[in-house]
Amino acid sequence: MAKSVLIDLTRCIGCRGCQIACKEWNERKAKKTEMRGVYTNPPELNSETYTYIKFVEQEKDGVPVWSFIKDQCLHCKDPACVSACPVEALKKTEAGPVTYHFDRCIGCRYCMLACPFYIPKYEWEKAVPWVQKCSFCSERIKADMVPACIKTCPTGTMFYGEYDDVLKEGRSRINKSPGKYVDHIYGEKEAGGTSWMYISNVPFASLGFNANIVNRNFPEYTWKYIGKIPAVIGVVLIVGAATWALTRSKNSDKEE
Ligand code: SF4
Ligand code: SF4
Ligand code: SF4
Repeated sequence: MAKSVLIDLTRCIGCRGCQIACKEWNERKAKKTEMRGVYTNPPELNSETYTYIKFVEQEKDGVPVWSFIKDQCLHCKDPACVSACPVEALKKTEAGPVTYHFDRCIGCRYCMLACPFYIPKYEWEKAVPWVQKCSFCSERIKADMVPACIKTCPTGTMFYGEYDDVLKEGRSRINKSPGKYVDHIYGEKEAGGTSWMYISNVPFASLGFNANIVNRNFPEYTWKYIGKIPAVIGVVLIVGAATWALTRSKNSDKEE
């Protein structure tokens, strides 16, 4: 049976412990950011950040209401990134995680185009770049350990377990507290179903979730479009990325 996670947004206090734990476990560096007048930092996922907390401020009855949204790969049940990859560098494992294998990757970045949640990121700044994304701590799961971000959360925002139990828990929390949650488990149906799901007290669309995502597996759409991109474009993308990386590295030498 595959592992799964329910993120209960009513429990998150925005401490970012998960963000730090993920960095530590995965040995990811910090990236320079700018003060932009908002608390969300970094502004979005990047090649060194597999998960981050988005701070959303809304107003209810004249009082500010904060929501803190943990974002990371949702480990789709039938992932578009996997079906788009021409060399099987991404795999959906039986245990639940969608894993990335850099030794197979040719840098075409079809996975980035295909993902309906804009998750995979590219190491644009490196001379030999790879794709980066949350691995669902697959090595920890293999060793019977809880993923680092879940283990560190002080409020139990994330409920971790077997897929059926996780879905049942989400449904039970909604049913047991009428009026507390919106009647929607985000990820139960979106993109054909995901291993990481959300429940919330605020409508998902107002928190920036893609509310128009289709409730069907994405791979059938993915190949309708990506399958038509000639292989030569993949090569052009690779050469372009290499040229860009070289130019950038020369520029940064000059700056130094
Ligand atoms: S969220 Fe995106 S990157 Fe993650 S498994 Fe689904 S399609 Fe792949
Ligand atoms: S599951 Fe692991 S890799 Fe994914 S966000 Fe949590 S700590 Fe990071
Ligand atoms: S550690 Fe838990 S409470 Fe803190 S930001 Fe992450 S999910 Fe929210």
